[in-house]
Amino acid sequence: MDDDPDDPGSPRSPFGAPAAPVARPPAWSRATRAVVAGRPERAPDAPLNPPPVFASAYHAGGPVAYARDGNPTWSAFETVLGELEGGVAVAFASGMAATAAVFDDVPVGATIVVPRDGYYGTRTLLGAAVAGRWQARAVDVTDTDAAVEACDGAHVLWVESPTNPMLDVADIPALAVAAHARGATVVVDNTLMTPLGQRPLELGADLVVHSATKLLAGHSDVVLGAVVAPDGSEACDRLRQRRSLGGAVPGPMEVYLALRGVRTLPLRFERASTTAHELARRLAVHPGVERVRYPGLASGEARSRALAQLDGFGTVLSFEVAGGAGAAEAVARSTQLVVHATSLGGVETTIERRAKWPGEVAPPGLLRLSVGCEDVGDLWADLAHALGVAAAVQRADATHVALRATPRSSSPGS
Ligand code: PLP
Repeated sequence: MDDDPDDPGSPRSPFGAPAAPVARPPAWSRATRAVVAGRPERAPDAPLNPPPVFASAYHAGGPVAYARDGNPTWSAFETVLGELEGGVAVAFASGMAATAAVFDDVPVGATIVVPRDGYYGTRTLLGAAVAGRWQARAVDVTDTDAAVEACDGAHVLWVESPTNPMLDVADIPALAVAAHARGATVVVDNTLMTPLGQRPLELGADLVVHSATKLLAGHSDVVLGAVVAPDGSEACDRLRQRRSLGGAVPGPMEVYLALRGVRTLPLRFERASTTAHELARRLAVHPGVERVRYPGLASGEARSRALAQLDGFGTVLSFEVAGGAGAAEAVARSTQLVVHATSLGGVETTIERRAKWPGEVAPPGLLRLSVGCEDVGDLWADLAHALGVAAAVQRADATHVALRATPRSSSPGS
């Protein structure tokens, strides 16, 4: 690579060095890139891994100068994520910081179309949190006609697909074409699928957002976010500027941990997706379950979209428990292996009744299961046991209600 600072091919931004482009044989698969990208140069006694760099200032003369503008650990993580998504990544302090940075680029008063069935933090940020700054238009993004209509006069179409927690599949290529024709930018939150399961830039999106807190980092010990833009897009410079001036910078240790997590993402994603599919199949025929939602079990149009857009069906499924909210809560509280917790994408399987959160669109008895890397047999035994406990609680409650409703033989007036 040319080190000449006057070389017009090496632009110097005041907001940090872009992640170094690394020449890779194009034939390498994503699974390989997840392991090898962003490594230090091979040289005698050079470390195999980029160490976490703790620095608030750098010696003068380089493109970074100050810690809000860049960090070598960020660059390593951004290189890997950029290679996996097929663009240029910019890391942020959290998924919400990444989302806020994208919104900040939208003119005040503009309309942003958001999925009704998507991460509630995104809708809340547009609604109560910054009331009046932008107009939010919530829509079912899996209904292509409705979503396209909502794009009329809109600045941004924000998509989550598969949707969360209903796990329906939107037609991203069709939405991208129609939104672009109406002058709207298309942003896809790809947290649920990761670039191993879906690459929105290839499907026509302009930007990809990640909560790297989830599958990318993968161990429930890090909060981190990122935005990915196509190579050479102006958006990258603006995002770096927003990160630098907005101050939503990630800590080097968090980025280091996330980078370490990404190295095993292909293994974790494949394992957890296979397990999720098997659990979805078993739940679908369990008498205590009314409905399972998982792209791998989808039929009709949703199935065609899933097969066309996804590599694998992902690690998250939802199921509706017979008996509604009470029964679903009983299941979530009765598991011994599966962890009752919010969030998703960790090596440990987590479960949660989503409707307990205000603003969530999920049916009351819907449980979202984020499948991790435990043994499928152990997970199934745990879920089946919890469904059994919930059914027993339901039966006991029904008996109790029936007994209370039965009139006692008592003397009048007593
Ligand atoms: N996007 C999705 C799909 C999420 O699930 C979340 C968090 O749960 C976010 C964005 C926000 O990410 P973070 O918690 O890293 O700020």
